[in-house]
Amino acid sequence: MALSRRSLMKLTGLAAVSVATTACASGTSGGPQVAGKSAATSALLGAAPIPAAKGQRVVIVGAGPSGLTIAKNIKKANPKIDVVLMDKRSVFMSGFISNLVATGVLPLEFITHDFLEGARNGNYTFLQATVHEIDRTSKTVFTNEGTVKYDVLVLAPGIDYDYSKWTKGDLTLEKELRTKFPAAFIAGSETLSLKAKIENFEEGVFVQTVPGGNYRCLPGPYERSCLIADYFKRNKINGKVVILDENPNITIKTDGFHSAFTKLYGDYITYMPSTTITSIDPFKKRIVTELGEEIDFTDAALYPRVRGNRLLELAGVAKDSVFNKAEANIDPFTYQVIGDKNVFCTGDVRPMGFSKSANTANTEGVIVAKNIVKYLAGEELSQKTWSSPLTVCYSAVNADPLRAISVNAGYAYDEAKKSFGFANAGTMEKWDGAEGVAGGKGLIEWGKGLYREMF
Ligand SMILES: Cc1cc2nc3c(=O)[nH]c(=O)nc-3n(C[C@H](O)[C@H](O)[C@H](O)COP(=O)(O)OP(=O)(O)OC[C@H]3O[C@@H](n4cnc5c(N)ncnc54)[C@H](O)[C@@H]3O)c2cc1C
Repeated sequence: MALSRRSLMKLTGLAAVSVATTACASGTSGGPQVAGKSAATSALLGAAPIPAAKGQRVVIVGAGPSGLTIAKNIKKANPKIDVVLMDKRSVFMSGFISNLVATGVLPLEFITHDFLEGARNGNYTFLQATVHEIDRTSKTVFTNEGTVKYDVLVLAPGIDYDYSKWTKGDLTLEKELRTKFPAAFIAGSETLSLKAKIENFEEGVFVQTVPGGNYRCLPGPYERSCLIADYFKRNKINGKVVILDENPNITIKTDGFHSAFTKLYGDYITYMPSTTITSIDPFKKRIVTELGEEIDFTDAALYPRVRGNRLLELAGVAKDSVFNKAEANIDPFTYQVIGDKNVFCTGDVRPMGFSKSANTANTEGVIVAKNIVKYLAGEELSQKTWSSPLTVCYSAVNADPLRAISVNAGYAYDEAKKSFGFANAGTMEKWDGAEGVAGGKGLIEWGKGLYREMF
């Protein structure tokens, strides 16, 4: 076949780009060339626009409470390690405290933070980029900004939603649910949608669902229900929050929430435990349960089951856990991927039954950072190097004055059951006395403390 001059130029141009970018797709060690599909991607993108690593490089994907804490604490422990933290978002917005923002108690600025501030204070590189492929053979991360090589990779990408129980693969239905009734358990646009829903609510039923499995932030849906009911009450809105809970009872801070539902919001909250949803019609706004109940709603935050972020599958490090689909296939004591010790998975993608919460991700991140520094210095990690993260979590039950209940727990490994359980757990569930008001102040200080820890 004869080639036109134009096609020939296109081809030779592409070849030139390919050679040049392969040559500059540098990493920490100029490691092996990338194979197959990855090589093509690499050739097109080249190295990401960040300085070459001077020493060992840790690449962290996901700048949530987990990734931010790990980046900061690695640099703190050993400033010589090169740390690159990546996130697809340009601005940080926290999930924790976001229920207070959605219900107008706190301003959006409270939960919104600057990734670059974290990078300046922590002396690491922040790269705003979306990771779309990971080649663990050549230790290369592929992003929309180009490739980055690593010595150690940390995957902390958080959760994705699993709508399959409700939609059975119907993607049109999933799109409707995601767009019209977002769960608002991944902070950002969903938080803003929820805020607008509450502000525009005139009257009727607002449905909040609670999923089964180990979902993100166990008290979150109950806290939100209290705050929406409180909003209706304060603003004299003829509205009711109907909580459809897949679980047989409130999953945490049970007494505190039950008593708030009854004493504060008797006319505003209906709690329905053990409720399995069999169908949702997003157009008629009707939910049908396993028992045949039909619940018509005016608006809703429909929280499906959660799963580990799909990046785990892309990296080939996913497995199903006893709680959820697709969590990280790691050694639970070292956080290292089974069969690839250079890759750590942390935060809400961990398969252990720890609380999927920011405080847990933060305290865990401090421990994992120390262990990564040890590992890069040649030390083997094991059950002996494990220590427990802490879960400290405040939940608001009403806004004026701000009152909150809380839980405080560590974890211990049960050798017989081969699983982790709570250790030294304590709760403060008396929202109606001075403790509740102190809890409200504690909540704000706890949130500010977490932002300081992360940035
Ligand atoms: C409404 C609500 C209330 C909550 N309340 C509390 C509370 O009271 N107390 C508490 O402790 N916790 C609470 N949480 C939970 C807490 O926010 C999460 O558990 C925590 O954020 C998990 O941290 P993480 O770093 O594992 O994941 P995330 O915070 O989800 O961070 C993951 C990051 O990875 C990035 N990412 C994902 N994929 C890619 C990719 N391919 N490329 C680049 N970047 C990527 C994402 O953009 C994100 O920034 C609440 C959450 C919500 C939504």
